[in-house]
Amino acid sequence: MKTSRRRFLTLTAFGLAATTSPEHAFPQRVPKSPQPARLRLSCQEGVAPGRSLNEKLDFLEAHGFEGIEPWGGGLPGRVEEFQKALQGRKIRVSAVCAGFEGVLISENEEVRQKAIRSIREILTAAGALGAVGMIVVPAFNGQTKLGHVEARELLVRLLPELGEHAHKVGTRILLEPLNRREAWFLRQLADAAAICRDVNHPGVAMMGDFWHMTWEEPSDFAAFVAAGPYLRHVHIASRKERKMPGEDPGDDYTDGMRGLKLIGYQDFISFECGSKGDPRRSIPEAVRLLREQWEAA
Ligand code: MG
Repeated sequence: MKTSRRRFLTLTAFGLAATTSPEHAFPQRVPKSPQPARLRLSCQEGVAPGRSLNEKLDFLEAHGFEGIEPWGGGLPGRVEEFQKALQGRKIRVSAVCAGFEGVLISENEEVRQKAIRSIREILTAAGALGAVGMIVVPAFNGQTKLGHVEARELLVRLLPELGEHAHKVGTRILLEPLNRREAWFLRQLADAAAICRDVNHPGVAMMGDFWHMTWEEPSDFAAFVAAGPYLRHVHIASRKERKMPGEDPGDDYTDGMRGLKLIGYQDFISFECGSKGDPRRSIPEAVRLLREQWEAA
């Protein structure tokens, strides 16, 4: 098997790290013998075709999806609807996508408190639905006047309490790094993982989004490996135009999938994308492509 130079260098770096002194954090972040990773596909509710939640679930189940990702806005009022629709099905709620009010790292106390209240409510719903976590972007560009140092300190101070609530209700916060056009504050998976490490709470984890990673990560493989056990969710789309995976020429996820395999990733890869073609055709084609690339990775 041909090993690329980038992969060789990354693996060598980990080999070296494992032999250095114990205070180096690498060994504990790369499981020695991880469970084999699994490809478990999920799809955002708004991406799946169908006129009702049940029609969407029927479609997703028929194409081998194991998860559905609802929007967090309004979810506290939809818990029963989801519980009922999911009864007797193999599919479950993978993660809950944001949908909260306010801004967690705003310089304005009122705006921050609004975010905390709103995130707590959605976390409770996410926990009731058995979601792996709730996705939280600390601030989009222009949403905070704080500099990065102050913003990071504030975030690390706020997360334990939210994480505690998440943990109590059986779920977790998932920090999502975005690309620089959307959020300079948090762009790379290793940075999100470092925040999780500093907070060190079971209710605080993070995720990666292949589409944002196209611009921000020099290596998908290294990004997922650096995230290690803090990585609990992944978003996927075509790499350039954020359409269905495979709809942009050269869409390739194998480098990242090799990283997911190395860390024994057990959670979901969830479709967050538009579609150039009819989703009833483009979704099954994307599933085929991802299964092929997973096998090859
Ligand atoms: Mg995303």
